[in-house]
Amino acid sequence: MKKVLIIGAGGVGQVVAHKCAQVPEVFNEIILASRTESKCISIAAQIKKSMGVEIATAQVDADDVDELVVLLNQINVDLVINVALPYQDLTIMDACLIAKVHYMDTANYEPLDTAKFEYSWQWDYQEKFEKAGLMALLGSGFDPGATNMFTAYAAKHYFDEIHTLDIIDVNGGDHGYAFATNFNPEINIREVTAECRHWENGLFVESAALSTSQQFTCPDEVGSFDIYRMYHEELESLTKHYPTLKKAQFWMSFGESYLKHLEVLGNVGLTGIKPIEFQGEKIVPIQFLKALLPDPSTLGPRTKGKTCIGCVVTGVKNGEEKTVYVYNIKDHQDCYQEVESQAISYTTGVPAMIGAKMILEGKWLKAGVWNMEQLDPDPFMEDMNKYGLPWKVIENPNFNLMK
Ligand code: NDP
Repeated sequence: MKKVLIIGAGGVGQVVAHKCAQVPEVFNEIILASRTESKCISIAAQIKKSMGVEIATAQVDADDVDELVVLLNQINVDLVINVALPYQDLTIMDACLIAKVHYMDTANYEPLDTAKFEYSWQWDYQEKFEKAGLMALLGSGFDPGATNMFTAYAAKHYFDEIHTLDIIDVNGGDHGYAFATNFNPEINIREVTAECRHWENGLFVESAALSTSQQFTCPDEVGSFDIYRMYHEELESLTKHYPTLKKAQFWMSFGESYLKHLEVLGNVGLTGIKPIEFQGEKIVPIQFLKALLPDPSTLGPRTKGKTCIGCVVTGVKNGEEKTVYVYNIKDHQDCYQEVESQAISYTTGVPAMIGAKMILEGKWLKAGVWNMEQLDPDPFMEDMNKYGLPWKVIENPNFNLMK
């Protein structure tokens, strides 16, 4: 009998709860906890109504290790799925070590007061998890997550050695707002406005945020989009675990309206992360901005169009150079019909459920701190086809990507 605690009841938490509830043979009992319990209660009510499955709820402040440990000891779960914010990764990992529970998340740790995300903080837990006989699985969303799996799958089945990697994240959906983000606005804006870094010949090369772009035409008539190079966390783990990579880049599509708003908001200081004095109080501009923007979990009914996220990998097989593109396309409205959510939360929540399933079924279970590509991609890829994220492979596509 397996019991799981999901922490975070935002856009992604809602999808994870729905998808775990769809697989009762693995997730026998589900508890959804967050800072604001009313959000957990309304997700639980949705699931009860649409699927007839009962899930329990709880209130917890995941910044507080003691509070987390009390909850974990009370409910006695096998695994915590952390889909709160990256700021809570380390406190939840600490609590898991004390309460002896396996851990997984979808985004790497980021300190609240520095817009800097990297794996070092969580990799430092390797020995502690190994000694405790516990597993911590890092980054089991779509990107990171499915993109790590696509790379690992291509490397395993199509190449002797991989040389270049272009991860391309296109959101061809439109929610009709002049400016809104598809996941937590604070995390999204911190990520997009960060200095760009890509991997080239053994080191990360920096360039100004969003200063390099090209056009990309998605397969299966999703359309053509302007994609911008930016830093994304899976570049750090993939270049570590595939040392033959000579170049690795991450690209994301943005619409004109999004970029114009971001520029203006940045110019007037509203994307700042340092506290400022306002009417005798300290406020953080980006947190104030978040309060003004639409909640990403409400975008479901109004987002139309498709996402197309995949990896273009080049390398050699039997001495011959080749290119392989592994990708998934997901329709926003199909996601809404299934779990009342748009495709960004859906494409994150499904791999989180599958990662948890891999651990609970014992297919991936091993002590220590692991990135996705360190584990066998085959059972995970099989489950992506089964649980709503079917993928395809194109060998030697005729993309003319920037070298
Ligand atoms: P939301 O802001 O919609 O939801 C975050 C949830 O976490 C909210 O319910 C929030 O509670 C809760 N939370 C925040 N702080 C705490 C705390 N201290 N204690 C307990 N609960 C807390 O975010 P998303 O659902 O959009 O994103 C969730 C995570 O998924 C993020 O880490 C994000 O980076 C990651 N992500 C990963 C992707 C991937 O592909 N790998 C893609 C998209 C997102 P409250 O309601 O009280 O604010």
